[in-house]
Amino acid sequence: MPTSTAAKNQVQHNPYTGLPYTPRYHEFYKKRITLPVFEYRTDFMRLLALHQCIVLVGETGSGKTTQIPQWCVEYSRSMGLKAVACTQPRRVAAMSVAQRVSEEMDVALGQEVGYSIRFEDCSSANTVLKYMTDGMLLREGMSDPMLEAYQVILLDEAHERTLATDLLMGVLKEVVKQRPDLKLVIMSATLDAGKFQQYFDNAPLMNVPGRTHPVEIFYTPEPERDYLEAAIRTVIQIHMCEEVAGDLLLFLTGQEEIEEACKRIKREMDNLGPEVGELKCIPLYSTLPPNLQQRIFEPAPPTKPNGAIGRKVVVSTNIAETSLTIDGVVFVIDPGFAKQKVYNPRIRVESLLVSPISKASAQQRAGRAGRTRPGKCFRLYTERAYKNEMQDNTYPEILRSNLGSVVLQLKKLGIDDLVHFDFMDPPAPETLMRALELLNYLAALDDDGNLTDLGAVMAEFPLDPQLAKMLIASCNHNCSNEILSITAMLSVPQCFVRPNEAKKAADDSKMRFAHIDGDHLTLLNVYHAFKQNMEDPQWCYEHFVNYRSLKSGDNVRQQLSRIMDRFSLKRTSTDFTSKDYYINIRKALVNGFFMQVAHLERTGHYLTIKDNQVVQLHPSSCLDHKPEWVIYNEFVLTTKNYIRTVTDIKPDWLLKIAPQYYDLQNFPQCEAKRQLEGIQTRLDSKQYQEGF
Ligand code: ADP
Ligand code: MG
Repeated sequence: MPTSTAAKNQVQHNPYTGLPYTPRYHEFYKKRITLPVFEYRTDFMRLLALHQCIVLVGETGSGKTTQIPQWCVEYSRSMGLKAVACTQPRRVAAMSVAQRVSEEMDVALGQEVGYSIRFEDCSSANTVLKYMTDGMLLREGMSDPMLEAYQVILLDEAHERTLATDLLMGVLKEVVKQRPDLKLVIMSATLDAGKFQQYFDNAPLMNVPGRTHPVEIFYTPEPERDYLEAAIRTVIQIHMCEEVAGDLLLFLTGQEEIEEACKRIKREMDNLGPEVGELKCIPLYSTLPPNLQQRIFEPAPPTKPNGAIGRKVVVSTNIAETSLTIDGVVFVIDPGFAKQKVYNPRIRVESLLVSPISKASAQQRAGRAGRTRPGKCFRLYTERAYKNEMQDNTYPEILRSNLGSVVLQLKKLGIDDLVHFDFMDPPAPETLMRALELLNYLAALDDDGNLTDLGAVMAEFPLDPQLAKMLIASCNHNCSNEILSITAMLSVPQCFVRPNEAKKAADDSKMRFAHIDGDHLTLLNVYHAFKQNMEDPQWCYEHFVNYRSLKSGDNVRQQLSRIMDRFSLKRTSTDFTSKDYYINIRKALVNGFFMQVAHLERTGHYLTIKDNQVVQLHPSSCLDHKPEWVIYNEFVLTTKNYIRTVTDIKPDWLLKIAPQYYDLQNFPQCEAKRQLEGIQTRLDSKQYQEGF
């Protein structure tokens, strides 16, 4: 930036494009220098030059994510040609921030500034600053173990303690020892930085005080029975009764709830007539298309001539807690819940459950109200609940997750001794055991726990180990084209749309895609129909399928097929007219998911194999009957246990495809075992006869 008078009179040139900076650049620059971090620039540059690891703590909105990586780019440019990586726990944040920073640096997104998230790489050889999900950086570590591409790595939102961030910290702790030139910056929005400092051998701390205003907290006197109801009521009340201008931020748990709340708020507002101020409802969740996500930055509607204040209300998941800063928020409504991952290693079930948030989360949420001026936070729970029932901090994700993918990736990274790996918080031994067991049954690890050739290929796919295994094995069942499509469809958001006002029509439409043998094949039918209809959005609309899901499914499919090509995994299909066409596909499914099987008991309910959990077919299933043996993609834990995305399979396939897992000598006594024993005997005698 110009310091001398001579420089001031010169036209500044963008070092990347060689062109004079556009007026927009200067506009952004004026705003940037008002951010709290800006005063700390010199300090930061000095620390970066002196130390290998730095911990940086700053209030949400102080400019950590957008500014500090840009300073690191300057450092990196002075050192050579390597790039800067900045990780984000969320895809949305990686995309949105990269977009913003490309504008601030006056370059095209995907060129000097880019992003990389699973199944989408928007970067190029020119990229000097890459925002990426923490999971993607971990993946890069598999092919570039010393992360040689980077001069500086920033782990942002470290306080979230996502699974991938925790692993990265462990991996990078080793890498920095071997690469003295690499710099590591750990950024966090909360103050408990001591743990990070200690972990990185007493790394220096830089603390950026935010420019925050006091936030007044209100609690409900009694617990709310229906928090959604209460939240909507509170939103309307604030909008109508508060006298100062300022926007609202409501935290809810997921897409469905958010869309529902927006609809209900709009309806209530319509009933209030034209005299009241306008209230613009903006949903925000991770699967929302990027152009709609950007709506959170739109200004609030104007105040009417009668003085009625116009506001916007952003209805958001946890994303707005720290990942994305929304300016102008003065009122926060916090019902106290979030969807959180929980894992039960005993029954091998990982699920997203709506659970109470921690005190730390509640404080972050409240803080969002004080960015521009003093604000108010309405907690829809009692003060007692806050003090006595909420835990202090959210447990790190590594303690709440199935570690199948993680262990496979660590093995691929060359980390064999998981027991002695320096985790910041080591996972439960039972969870690690379960992961090793799963990978062993899938033949990704041998009996000594070493990565097999198959396991090494599996790790290359950005998929759960079961899916990767199924995809690779499908080549042997002459149906890799079809399994590729199914895998892609399982990797994108739900493709069937079921609008409240047209449930019946949507269900009828879905049944036209239904395959008698189950949901996996139904997904395949939808994908094929989409392609046959030339990917027509109008066709999607008319058939109640989500165009965007299918489009991204198609994109995922292409990317996975490129990985298959790299390993010479042939793409083949069985002749469609052959009776084996669908049988082969179902057999391939069993190759990946033989541990996710349920058996229909004589009592009429399903029991999961080995874990003996009572489950029901999810109501979304297109199966019109109850097959005796089914394979399922997902165990859904709500008030009941459901299995979702279910397909009919034959028990003799289980015995043939996964004899190790279905070793009947070591099988718990149950109805399924007796059935399998009968089949085993028949198979043996048939072999015996054939042997003659
Ligand atoms: P932090 O990471 O410390 O929470 P950020 O660097 O993300 O802060 O944001 C700093 C400021 O930049 C925010 O207060 C906001 O005003 C602005 N900002 C960031 N992203 C965008 C965007 N996509 N559009 C408009 N403003 C943005
Ligand atoms: Mg940030």
